Amino acid sequence: MTRLHRGERVVLATHNAGKLREFDMLLAPLGIEVVSAGSLGLAEPEETGDSFAANAILKAEAAVAATGLPALADDSGVSVAGLGGAPGIYSARWAGPGKDFAIAMRRVRDELAGRFGSFERADRRGAFIACLAIVRPGGERATFEGRCDGTLVWPPRGEGGFGYDPMFVPDGDDRTFGEMTAAEKKAFSHRARALAVLKQACLSAG
Ligand code: IMP
Repeated sequence: MTRLHRGERVVLATHNAGKLREFDMLLAPLGIEVVSAGSLGLAEPEETGDSFAANAILKAEAAVAATGLPALADDSGVSVAGLGGAPGIYSARWAGPGKDFAIAMRRVRDELAGRFGSFERADRRGAFIACLAIVRPGGERATFEGRCDGTLVWPPRGEGGFGYDPMFVPDGDDRTFGEMTAAEKKAFSHRARALAVLKQACLSAG
């Protein structure tokens, strides 16, 4: 099993400050120091993989190659049943160069309405999926997946969260992620679930 060890420095293959905080919070109590690819000035590799796992691995591999340190990376997105799993690994790209998620959410709504005749008649089941990858120098690797199933709604509701949060209602609640506090969302979050799986499986005290 690929593990992270106490006292180790690990590079987090992200330029996203929010993700850095989340991972640092998890790993610091275990004596693992996290440095971000962004703070080291590393380039972001192009996400050319055909799955969340492939993209997470290629981001981690690029960070290992650049630093010689073990690396942790994630890739995530929303997968909509009525769209055959789209946008999936293209979730960020649907927001366009301006990263405008009002545009991305509208496209999900319009494509569902186009396929099913109306948004209300569409198969609006969906899931947020997060995949984490650990790659060690030498190539040893492991991936961990977390998911949160739910239903898409229109119009979007709530000002919280980011990305597709305002149109996603997780199973077990009737609010969108956009209507929840960060702590409330964490109880459902695919990323938190993937972190829990990783923590369970591969953080060694030794
Ligand atoms: P990544 O940074 O390549 O993993 O891209 C993930 C994209 O998926 C983000 O830009 C969002 O569009 C979407 N996404 C992932 N996780 C969430 C979430 O928790 N809420 C809303 N959107 C998310």
